[in-house]
Amino acid sequence: MRLEVKLEIWVRTALSVGSGGTPPGMGIDKAAVRDKEGHLVIPASSIKGKVRSECERLLRGIDPDLVCCPPRAEQMCPHFELPSEREKPIYQREVCPCCRLFGTNGRKAALLFSDARQERPARLKGVDSQVRPGVSISRRRRTAEDERLYFVETSIPRAGFCFVGKIMGEVGARREAALLLASIRSVVALGGGRSRGLGWIGTNLNQDEEEVYLDGSRVTVRELLGHIGEWRP
Ligand SMILES: [Zn+2]
Repeated sequence: MRLEVKLEIWVRTALSVGSGGTPPGMGIDKAAVRDKEGHLVIPASSIKGKVRSECERLLRGIDPDLVCCPPRAEQMCPHFELPSEREKPIYQREVCPCCRLFGTNGRKAALLFSDARQERPARLKGVDSQVRPGVSISRRRRTAEDERLYFVETSIPRAGFCFVGKIMGEVGARREAALLLASIRSVVALGGGRSRGLGWIGTNLNQDEEEVYLDGSRVTVRELLGHIGEWRP
């Protein structure tokens, strides 16, 4: 089944999706990602990564045997064996639903994510972002790493920015489309600094009456989500 989803990302706070690149002379450690025209953009990889991890979490909550265990390659498909596949040689095994939708080593993803572009980008450059200071925290020790001060570029907070992207691909059944939508609905933040209140988002797909296309026909989110229970063993 051909699935087409228009994804609107509504930024509620300030978005910090950094390229890691440093514009010369600006004193910013992590600059925002921009397209060729200089407009803010949320890269497809950021969206896909976050949706995938929500998808893994959801599936594991339904049945831990449904999904492999990234990020270690030996615990991921196709090496990871789903219980139903244990008897088959590796080349005949199916991959888990997550790896089928989002791809894995040696297997193309069923879904293609686009970058999300700003719906109405600011005409003047430089009025869509601000630079804010932070202190880096060591993840391991949970302490400030020598109190290192850094600067990140974020979108202007609460500016009502909307980013629009697309997800397209082939799904095997309605329950796969339902899984994708449920995963997107569980994403509450994108980018860095979530604990500092950055990157909180909502999407159009959080609305039950929103429509997506399945083989060219409109289907509501509510209707598709009704198929999520089909994942239960
Ligand atoms: Zn997998």
